[in-house]
Amino acid sequence: MSDSERASRHVGRPRIRVSFEFFPPKTEEMERTLWDSIERLAPLRPNFVSVTYGAGGSTRERTHATVKRILSQTALTPAAHLTCVSATCGEVDDVIRAYHDAGVRHIVALRGDPAGGAGEKYAPHPGGYENGAALVAGIKRITDAEVTVSAYPEKHPDSASVDADIDMLKAKVDAGASRAITQFFFENDLYFRYLDRVRARGIAVPVTPGILPVQNFKQAKGFAERTGASVPDWLAARFDGLDDDPATRKLIAAAIAAEQVLDLVDRGVSDFHFYTMNRADLVYAICHLLGLRPAPKQEAAE
Ligand code: FAD
Repeated sequence: MSDSERASRHVGRPRIRVSFEFFPPKTEEMERTLWDSIERLAPLRPNFVSVTYGAGGSTRERTHATVKRILSQTALTPAAHLTCVSATCGEVDDVIRAYHDAGVRHIVALRGDPAGGAGEKYAPHPGGYENGAALVAGIKRITDAEVTVSAYPEKHPDSASVDADIDMLKAKVDAGASRAITQFFFENDLYFRYLDRVRARGIAVPVTPGILPVQNFKQAKGFAERTGASVPDWLAARFDGLDDDPATRKLIAAAIAAEQVLDLVDRGVSDFHFYTMNRADLVYAICHLLGLRPAPKQEAAE
């Protein structure tokens, strides 16, 4: 399809909206990288920016500090991730109240992975929230914050079937979640097939595709293995032989992500959530392709 054909197909389409996911930095250098990325991406006026909660709640303080800094130093709307693994309901409730008191009005609610990592058998903490749905209900008891939850087009690895997964999504939505963000995927048909099943189950909330620009193929493959996402052979083939060639890898990564998001747009998707890995370049370029432009700088008042 030519650019003009694509442009004319997009006339009358809903506005593209994006959100960006970051993780809390561990070191001062990582902190600088994160803030450079936030500053670069902020003018694209994302719908919200989310900050992850480390495995087992390990980044509780750092997540909170990052969210607070976003609130106090930027005009962005933060969404704080929260997991309920390895914590009592009381401990989790304290975090929910602290988010609320800090002005956070959007929480991404997750069960979380067991302390030993994804793949270990999950057991709820005695006295803790049992799963994502119970956590959503707990959040809604404390705050009227918007709640977003996870969705798995290729099934969560713990789940017996896609239907069991969709039952859990339904329970989370019935408990008050108003949006789901998917695990990343590389084949768009998987997303649309999943969406059909979600809608057939009577779930009406937006299910925003989570997009992982492949900045590092080996790392992405590792994530995929742990999360049950499939890595198609064509994707591996495109990165083949580029282990020592980061510049070409980056161009290929941009081309792959562009192909994926533009196909999603052609098929009616208007909201995207980017797993940024705290890096702005690729995500900025993809957003540009989606038609997003930085907000004009405010003139200084005379
Ligand atoms: P749930 O939605 O509660 O469950 C997922 C599936 O597993 C359901 O299908 C459910 O039926 C099944 N299931 C749940 N418990 C059991 C059980 N005991 N036995 C059998 N089946 C079960 N992790 C973090 O640590 N921090 C983050 O900030 C974070 N952010 C994320 C953001 C997004 C958008 C996504 C998609 C994932 C994120 N994760 C994060 C990963 C997530 O914590 C893991 O995938 C975790 O294993 C499941 O949490 P959940 O809320 O998705 O689980």
